[in-house]
Amino acid sequence: MSLQKTINGLIRDVPDYPQPGVLFKDITPLLHDAVAFQAVVSAIAAEAGPVDKVAGLEARGFLLAAPVALELGAGLVPVRKSGKLPWETYAETYDLEYGTATIEVHRDAFAPGDRVLIVDDVLATGGTAEAAASLVRQAGAEVAGLSVLMELTFLNGRDRFTDLRIHSLVAV
Ligand code: 5GP
Repeated sequence: MSLQKTINGLIRDVPDYPQPGVLFKDITPLLHDAVAFQAVVSAIAAEAGPVDKVAGLEARGFLLAAPVALELGAGLVPVRKSGKLPWETYAETYDLEYGTATIEVHRDAFAPGDRVLIVDDVLATGGTAEAAASLVRQAGAEVAGLSVLMELTFLNGRDRFTDLRIHSLVAV
């Protein structure tokens, strides 16, 4: 079976989560499957090219970014929601449907010029990934690419990025 089919078979659609009208893509069944989980991590790593750091976006991005970083021999950088990191941070605020959100990284997360792969589970509107890319640049590093397990194409998140390599294992 192709990796795409395996992934599609192991992502569960949950209607009306976290709010009415949203069809949430639940990746936990995929994480429960050791063979599929390993295949996904290897596929993301294989597309990455040379990188110094892998930045995982809270929270599900952490679950993929950590094994990808180990497979690439790269460092891991957690990009966290506001107030969760204990030391000095850079912050980036972005718009949500209602209100705003802020994400942060530690000020010593990147060396100048580090090549950084941003990893998350799902690319939806692209707002989170766009803010993460700004954060990486604000911290003096270079965004080498964005890798996600699943891209929700009807939300056109990809259109926010003009000059970024975006890789999704499956697009729906
Ligand atoms: P965006 O900022 O692209 O609209 O939303 C992407 C962020 O929200 C990601 O961090 C992702 O984890 C989360 N997200 C949005 N929709 C879904 C979904 O259907 N399934 C999962 N697993 N995460 C989602």
